[in-house]
Amino acid sequence: MDLCLSDVSHRYGELEVLRGIDLTIEAGQIVCVIGPSGCGKSTLLRLLGGLERPTSGAVLQIGAPPPDCLNPLTYVFQDFALLPWRTAAGNVALALEDQPVGRAERREIVADVLARTKLSEFAEVLPRQLSGGMKQRVAIARALAVRPACLLLDEPLSALDSQTRELLLDDLLELWLRERFTACYVTHNLNEAVRLGHRVVVLSRLPGEIREIVEIDLPLEERKDALASLQVQQGRLWELMREEAMAADRELADV
Ligand code: ADP
Ligand code: MG
Repeated sequence: MDLCLSDVSHRYGELEVLRGIDLTIEAGQIVCVIGPSGCGKSTLLRLLGGLERPTSGAVLQIGAPPPDCLNPLTYVFQDFALLPWRTAAGNVALALEDQPVGRAERREIVADVLARTKLSEFAEVLPRQLSGGMKQRVAIARALAVRPACLLLDEPLSALDSQTRELLLDDLLELWLRERFTACYVTHNLNEAVRLGHRVVVLSRLPGEIREIVEIDLPLEERKDALASLQVQQGRLWELMREEAMAADRELADV
């Protein structure tokens, strides 16, 4: 299933947030979206996920979701959003509670997704016993449990320290190599974008328009061993972003 924004614009009252966005998230690809703070990245993700309806334009799901898909679109948020009184397995199971799966199948799916995300030994652990990185792994497992057509990740690594971020980047890369999931990955971190994205969408400052879509032409299979060449790509992205970030930074609040 491809996910598509067709000439999408969005306003919150008087505030024009996104303008004329045309974007397709193709099945099996990771599309990263970068842009200065407040430019509409989270809004774009909410529109993709149907949490918000666009003021104009259309959000389309083209083609069928995977045959065993229980929920086509799932989110991963910066703040993990785990229930503190539930174990890792309990938090993952939460995603399956409104789904037409029996108890036995639910247990099977949870065990399977915990194994795929290398969390099996943490199944019975409570969130407060887990590091930030592990909490986010649980949130990713929960998002994958419903076998989504597309994962929507909103700055998933932004609350983590830089070493943990590196470890999770490697994990996500390995997971993609094994499972070829589809994702729209919002970040303000250019390094994350060049490490994970097949394509990187650069948004302008408010109202967010697509400034450019940059193909990162190194296959994901080769990314881990090509950090130097990715730095060059990151430099190119920063050239595109610098002007927008600077202008956004100097903008006066409208009060
Ligand atoms: P980003 O994720 O890029 O930081 P957002 O999509 O969260 O940007 O927000 C874009 C703009 O829209 C910001 O100015 C923000 O204050 C505003 N905004 C976001 N959500 C709402 C809302 N529900 N109601 C009104 N304004 C909002
Ligand atoms: Mg945001």
